[in-house]
Amino acid sequence: MMDPILENIKENVRQLLRELPPGVELVAAAKQQTPEKVLAAVEAGIKIIGENYVQEAAAAFQVIGRRVQWSFIGHLQKNKVKKAVEIFDLIESVDFLQLAEEINRRAAAAGRVMPVLIEVNSGREPQKFGALPENVEELAWAISDLPHLKLRGLMTMGPFEGDPEEARPYFRLTRQLFEQLKKLDLPRAEINILSMGMTNSYRVAIEEGATRVRLGTRIFGPRQ
Ligand SMILES: *Cc1c(COP(=O)(O)O)cnc(C)c1O
Repeated sequence: MMDPILENIKENVRQLLRELPPGVELVAAAKQQTPEKVLAAVEAGIKIIGENYVQEAAAAFQVIGRRVQWSFIGHLQKNKVKKAVEIFDLIESVDFLQLAEEINRRAAAAGRVMPVLIEVNSGREPQKFGALPENVEELAWAISDLPHLKLRGLMTMGPFEGDPEEARPYFRLTRQLFEQLKKLDLPRAEINILSMGMTNSYRVAIEEGATRVRLGTRIFGPRQ
């Protein structure tokens, strides 16, 4: 018998894949979901899984493996970097130099180059992580000096709740920073990922130029 919860996840994914414009990647934000649910999303066509916790990612990774890409979207603690470099294809949340240096060191030890995004605290919210907009360019130059990192673009959260229109100026600001980064001609960089928009704001984010959206609730339903 088909599990209605898993069927619902699959239907949500199929709808989204029909809805999203070409060129916009869909990341399934999998925090707090069981590997079984994440697998259902993959079976319906998800190609990128976003994880906030290295431990949780390791469990889902055991089940799903390399048939999808793994994107780290949470706050990365230094003592988790080694494990993160083993699992993830992209780390979206680099927001200060010491973290970038630690990823570089661990990626060097693993003999790989780690693609990263800079997380921007576009709303300047004190409780949120992310580099402040005025510090993004300097961090981008510093990252481009690290031979085992490859800068791919920017990620932002924007304010979560309320009217998605309220997030628009923050997405617009992040897009402007993204366009500026492209013009810098940073060594080793390939600036083409702009990750912004969650369940309540992804339509606005796409209008403002997002190349990938990170959806949890829209795929899996409300978290407990
Ligand atoms: C949880 C989370 C999301 C998805 O949030 P929803 O509102 O459930 O779609 C996206 N990005 C990050 C960084 C998250 O932590």
